[in-house]
Amino acid sequence: MDLDALLQAFTPSWTSVAILVVFFTYLAIAGSILPGRVVPGATLADGTRLHYRCNGLLSLVLLVLLLGIGGWMDLVSPTAIADRGLELLSTTLIFSALVTFLLYMAGCRSRDQSSSLKPHISGNLIHDWWFGIQLNPQFMGIDLKFYFVRAGMMGWLLINLSVLAKCILETNLSRSMILYQLFCVLYILDYFFYEEYMTSTWDIIAERLGFMLVFGDLVWIPFTFSIQGWWLLNNEVQLTTAAIVANCLVFMIGYLVFRGANKQKHVFKKNPKALIWGRPPKVIGGKLLASGYWGIARHSNYLGDLLLALSFSLPCGISSPVPYFYPIYLFILLIWRERRDEARCAQKYKEVWAEYKKQVPWRILPYVY
Ligand code: NDP
Repeated sequence: MDLDALLQAFTPSWTSVAILVVFFTYLAIAGSILPGRVVPGATLADGTRLHYRCNGLLSLVLLVLLLGIGGWMDLVSPTAIADRGLELLSTTLIFSALVTFLLYMAGCRSRDQSSSLKPHISGNLIHDWWFGIQLNPQFMGIDLKFYFVRAGMMGWLLINLSVLAKCILETNLSRSMILYQLFCVLYILDYFFYEEYMTSTWDIIAERLGFMLVFGDLVWIPFTFSIQGWWLLNNEVQLTTAAIVANCLVFMIGYLVFRGANKQKHVFKKNPKALIWGRPPKVIGGKLLASGYWGIARHSNYLGDLLLALSFSLPCGISSPVPYFYPIYLFILLIWRERRDEARCAQKYKEVWAEYKKQVPWRILPYVY
């Protein structure tokens, strides 16, 4: 592709703007009116708690159903997204920059002193725009942080489904594409099935909403996590049955560790006496869980996620590093995040964290790290 063609491919069109507007409007309406369990978030520094309506799964299923009907009635093209991936990427990038600029302005003007809305202003425009000013800004009653992460995960699935449609309509559906699609669908459905677990994650409880997070949710997640699908559209891979079985095993082990560890922490936070693997939990200082996955390694949930990420790339074989972008990026991100979270927890829990470290010396990968 020459430079002119590349620029052309990245230039936003009104169609890509319309796709985004419809998508974001749908998410705002569906998130506000569809039924879902309302769960309390983590207790904030001032003792308050936000509440989240977890209707992501219903919103997603309804959206896919509506798009399916639209495609069947020839109202929407199933390849609409896959046909304009790059322009949708640049449109979303511009949208992220604009929306975080507005968040920056609203944050600077806010006088609210509650933990979720109190402005944190360093005075450095780039820093404040990048990291955000408020913890949980809202717009028309919508918690924007929860909304954007939901948009990113759903966007990832929509891109994948459109790539799948393009593959079926224009090339051959390979076993690699089926495996990749299957793993991602299961991961994304699982994410929404357990959407309430998101409410206690680092992003929701500790990160302010700035360009870093909005870009991560809206651009990074959907457009880079789907690289394997795009790659498989243009590359053929022959997988042996043994490779497929091994790939499925990596996915299943990753899933068990990822979901198991996150679930154990979530359950523990709600009820510190709840049984872990059928036994009373080992608790340090009344605050930290040191049994189950959390007794094997600190942040063992990251190991599960890394194995899952690897399983999404293995269907592409090993002829190119390109499809391994996601696991490599996640590896770097989670090592960095684990260090930041360690520092945060050491400061928050002090000697209790030190005792936890003594009892559970491994981080992420037991006996290695
Ligand atoms: P965690 O869900 O691990 O949350 C970290 C927090 O959990 C800590 O700050 C502390 O918070 C609490 N905690 C840590 N250890 C213990 C313990 N032993 N007992 C009790 N509480 C503990 O981190 P993340 O939010 O970063 O990740 C959540 C999931 O999201 C992970 O599975 C991760 O892999 C995934 N993820 C995926 C990404 C992707 O791009 N695919 C990106 C980032 C995350 P507190 O102050 O509440 O005690």
